[in-house]
Amino acid sequence: MTDSRRPKEMTQHIGNHRLDPSTLMMGYGFDPALSEGSLKPPIFATSTFVFQRAADGKRFFEGITGRRPSTGDGLVYSRFNNPNQEILEDRLRIWEDAEESLAFSSGMTAITTLFLTFVRPGDVIVHSGPLYAATETIINKILGQFGIKYVDFPAGATREEIDAVLVRAKAMGNVSLIYLESPANPTNALVDVEAVHAARAAAFDGELPPIAIDNTFLGPLWARPLDQGADISVYSLTKYAGGHSDLVAGALTGRKALLDRVRMIRNTMGGICDPNTAWMLLRSLETLELRMSRAGENAAKVCAFLRDHPKVETVGYLGFLEPGSRQADIYTRHCLGAGSTFSLYLKGGEREAFAFLDALKIAKLAVSLGGTETLASAPAAMTHLSVPDERKAALGISENLVRISIGVEKAEDLIADFGHALDAI
Ligand code: PLP
Repeated sequence: MTDSRRPKEMTQHIGNHRLDPSTLMMGYGFDPALSEGSLKPPIFATSTFVFQRAADGKRFFEGITGRRPSTGDGLVYSRFNNPNQEILEDRLRIWEDAEESLAFSSGMTAITTLFLTFVRPGDVIVHSGPLYAATETIINKILGQFGIKYVDFPAGATREEIDAVLVRAKAMGNVSLIYLESPANPTNALVDVEAVHAARAAAFDGELPPIAIDNTFLGPLWARPLDQGADISVYSLTKYAGGHSDLVAGALTGRKALLDRVRMIRNTMGGICDPNTAWMLLRSLETLELRMSRAGENAAKVCAFLRDHPKVETVGYLGFLEPGSRQADIYTRHCLGAGSTFSLYLKGGEREAFAFLDALKIAKLAVSLGGTETLASAPAAMTHLSVPDERKAALGISENLVRISIGVEKAEDLIADFGHALDAI
């Protein structure tokens, strides 16, 4: 946050009592006195900011351009900073107790800027697989054009498997980034971040390649991967954080020294979150815990219903992991909840999946996740249509797979909707 608009009080405590993130979302980082007493932050719809003196302009630019170790002493230009985006970043940071957050125009802008910051021609990215399809495209199609290589390991890999992949990667070149996504879409397989962290410590000396992890599916309520050793947590804010399927944005949250480098690239090439979207996100964050808690409770009820239904083959839901399994062990160490996005495998194939989707009345037939409304889609025919058949088979993206993101409706209504749609198959 720029110094010129830093609120006098930015406390996260009352005495020794530490305030919960859900409480802090109502006012943290905003001083009404700086905006005519307005209870809520106004939308600062401006592209540029007036300096009181030329010397201020020079000082602010020194901070923005990194001449001095500062994120900026004052507001300059909305590609670099804006009050709404700064308040948003301050509040995002709180959820994972991180040193810093950066807001972007989309999840993919956040991910692409992260890669541009840390990876150079000839370098190797080590990543878990599968990744969100566009992230895979950036790594293998776009960065590949600049001589950047990659090695992947399956989400759920053991410490030994991760060790072996790091040995292979080091033999290929300078490993400059370890990029994870957990749970993986659509397999829901969890990555053992603690094992990746330990494997990195064993494999590298000196400057370690950062560990970044896409935490869109469970963050920030149900997973805090910075606690398990990740350096940067990646978000598509379009999903649970935005939570109303009415905006597109992204964020990185984590270690300041790393994010200061990302900020330089973001502010130069563009891609910052705009004031209007940042303002909408501030509003969304006030209800984040309420929305995610309700969606999580709903998902548990809906999945319990679906699991026992005769037309259902299986339900890939983190709440149903086999006790004693490796995935259950990772879940216990890494997760605070099972989320509300899961895979439903119907008995049959595309015909049955489509019949089910076409019969839904409350759940909407749309891709994406994390909104107040329940969404359902068929990955094999939609989001993963262009994935080659063998890879689809390896990832369990079969034609009978329906991907569901549960919202905040009444659970009983959702169960009635799914029950009716199953009957229609
Ligand atoms: N990461 C994950 C796990 C996603 O599901 C998505 C979008 O669906 C993204 C990243 C990209 O985010 P955005 O659509 O906000 O660019």
